[in-house]
Amino acid sequence: MKLGTKIQLYTTLMIAIVVILINLLIYFSYKHYSLEAEMGQLENRGNNIISEVQNARESNISGETVLQYFSLSDGYIALQDEAGDYIVRIATDQSYVELSEDYSTKQYTDVTSLGEQHFVMSSQPIIWDNGEVYSLQIFENVEFLYSTYNILKWILVISTVVIILLVFILNRVITNLIIGPIKQMIRRMNDKEGVRQFKTISTNESDTEELKMLTDSYNDMMLTLKAHDENQQAFIMNASHELKTPLTVISSYAKMLERFGQTRSDLLDEGITAISDETLRMKYLTEQFLSFTQVSKEDASENKEYIPVVHLVNDVSKRLEKAFNRHIEVSTDGTNPHIYINTQSFEQLIKIFLDNAYKYSQESIEVNISKDAEKVFIEIRDRGIGIPQAELNQIFERFYRVDKARARKTGGSGLGLAIAKTLADKNGIEIKVDSELNKGTTFTLIIDMEVDHDEAE
Ligand code: ADP
Repeated sequence: MKLGTKIQLYTTLMIAIVVILINLLIYFSYKHYSLEAEMGQLENRGNNIISEVQNARESNISGETVLQYFSLSDGYIALQDEAGDYIVRIATDQSYVELSEDYSTKQYTDVTSLGEQHFVMSSQPIIWDNGEVYSLQIFENVEFLYSTYNILKWILVISTVVIILLVFILNRVITNLIIGPIKQMIRRMNDKEGVRQFKTISTNESDTEELKMLTDSYNDMMLTLKAHDENQQAFIMNASHELKTPLTVISSYAKMLERFGQTRSDLLDEGITAISDETLRMKYLTEQFLSFTQVSKEDASENKEYIPVVHLVNDVSKRLEKAFNRHIEVSTDGTNPHIYINTQSFEQLIKIFLDNAYKYSQESIEVNISKDAEKVFIEIRDRGIGIPQAELNQIFERFYRVDKARARKTGGSGLGLAIAKTLADKNGIEIKVDSELNKGTTFTLIIDMEVDHDEAE
């Protein structure tokens, strides 16, 4: 169901319920209080009759004469003895004598009916001329009140219908006022070409605060998507560019082998070695690309563990020492700190920095682990070629390499530090770098020890 129709239906329904309840209250309270007033009047009349009968008795006038005098314009006065027999009956209409109440010495009032006619009645005990206690019953025709109720009922029914109709129509107008701009905005957002080009939409002066906020959120989302798309495209372009060189080498060697492979055995060896080297490079590059995409979308909060840093760094260093055939010196300040982290991410980080230290230096590599009250510091130091100060900020960018010419020789992809930065950000790790050209480079990982101990243990 459309929002506008929903608002219209719900508000109309709610107002209809309220109007009906109020009208019922008006109708029944009016009926109740008007009948109460009539019954009160009748009771007063009864009291008057009783005192007049007593006065008349002193002047030797019979009670019946008094009753005749008090006869109603449209009603019935009856006097009933204890046995239920009527002593006096004075009715303005003969049919009224059928109205009967049981003998009672209690004083009460009531509403009763005879056929289609409605009456209010009052019953009171009266001491009659002969000293007996009779029941004086007075009935008054209140049909005129019931026709008023009928008129009131129709007025209320018609006014309820009119109010509901008016509310329904007014609601349409109001919801159109609210929904109109939203619909306009949906049309603006639905512009397929605009969405494809990540176009932002403009706000109108007349837009409400909420619509302006919605437009802003939509525009923010578009800008984020645009940046993401540009990022993706740049990554694909850079990755294709990286793959192009080994592919060119492979294809030119393949062509050469095609032409001279059968005749020149010296070219055969060179060709096969080159193709095999470049294939390995392509394999390494694609692995790096995959690793980068994987790391970017991984959720670092998963599989976190409470791990002993020194033990893990020692482990990784031992494995790489063998692979690199280079000494890696791990030292500590005597502490054995634990951190709460995703072990795989942590290992990958250490490997990236050790790998770079190996690639960009010739001498042994040092790793130092220390801590203060809140943080653990892991320094990875090499005595290699170093990084120029001006480029220290850029080395974490994707595909950035300081010495492009040497890059192929060292065999990197320019993605290692970008992967490290993503991993560090996701795990809340800070990376610092200090470097001096031809002296060496130190990368420091700063890890917060603030952990939830309950979770960690
Ligand atoms: P690569 O795969 O090329 O090593 P990285 O992203 O790991 O890519 O590093 C980016 C660039 O930063 C490298 O190309 C290199 O120029 C420089 N670099 C990184 N680590 C070191 C280091 N320990 N010593 C000197 N230069 C480094």
